[in-house]
Amino acid sequence: MRIEILGTRGHIEVSAPGHELHSGVLMDDVLFDLGERHYLDRSPRAVFITHFHEDHAFFLNEDVDIGVPVYAPERLAGHKVKVIRSTVEVDGMSVTPVPTNHSEKVRSCGYLVEKDMQRVLYTGDLLSIQRRYRDRLPDLDLVITEGSFIRRGGLVRRDPETGRPHGHTGIPDLVSFFSPIARRVVITHLGSWFFHDIPAAVQKIESLGLEGQVIVAEDGTVLELGSDI
Ligand SMILES: [Zn+2]
Ligand SMILES: [Zn+2]
Repeated sequence: MRIEILGTRGHIEVSAPGHELHSGVLMDDVLFDLGERHYLDRSPRAVFITHFHEDHAFFLNEDVDIGVPVYAPERLAGHKVKVIRSTVEVDGMSVTPVPTNHSEKVRSCGYLVEKDMQRVLYTGDLLSIQRRYRDRLPDLDLVITEGSFIRRGGLVRRDPETGRPHGHTGIPDLVSFFSPIARRVVITHLGSWFFHDIPAAVQKIESLGLEGQVIVAEDGTVLELGSDI
C-alpha cells in the first residue's frame, strides 16, 4: 500500500515550507480527509472524512459536488454524504470507522484501513478513542495521528453543562498509547508550537519513541507499506 501524507498543518495561521497544507492522507486511490480543494485533483475513488472541521473538510461552507462517494461520521446539510457505521470495501481496501472523542459540536472517528495484510489507523484529531473500541484495535503496522500539542495532556476543555471533555490530547500521550500496538507512528496535523523551531520540534517528537518508531511527516511524505516499513 502506498501512503502519501498530503498535508501536515493543523488548524492554525502559521505555516512553513513543508508544512503548509491542511489534512489529507492518500492511501492508494482512497483519500482520508479533504482539507484542501486541490486534493481532488488526485482523483480519489472515495473520500472518508474524520470530522466536519474545515481543516479536514474544505467544503463545509461551500456548495460543491465532490463527484465521488464521501463518507463521514454524520450527515452534513446540503451535501451528499454517506454516514459510515460499519466496514466499507473500496478499491480492495476495508475501511472501518473507529469512533473518537474530539469536539463538543461534531462527531468524529478515525479509520482502520486493511489491505494486502497491512493495517493502518488514521485518527484525525483526537482527544481519545471511545473506550469500547480501544481494546479492539489489532496490531497495527502504522498509525497516523495528530501533533497539535507537545505537552502531556494536550488541551482539554469541558462542556460547562455536561462536563464532557473535548479537545486534543498531547503527542506524548498518543505515543504512549499507540507504541505498544503499532510498529510505526507518524505525526501530522502540527500545531503552532511546532513552528517556533522546527528541527528541535521534530527531534522532540521523534525522541518520544524507540529509534525510528515515531516520525514527523512533511507535506508530501510517502510511505510504501510492506517495503520500507
Ligand atoms: Zn484539525
Ligand atoms: Zn478538529
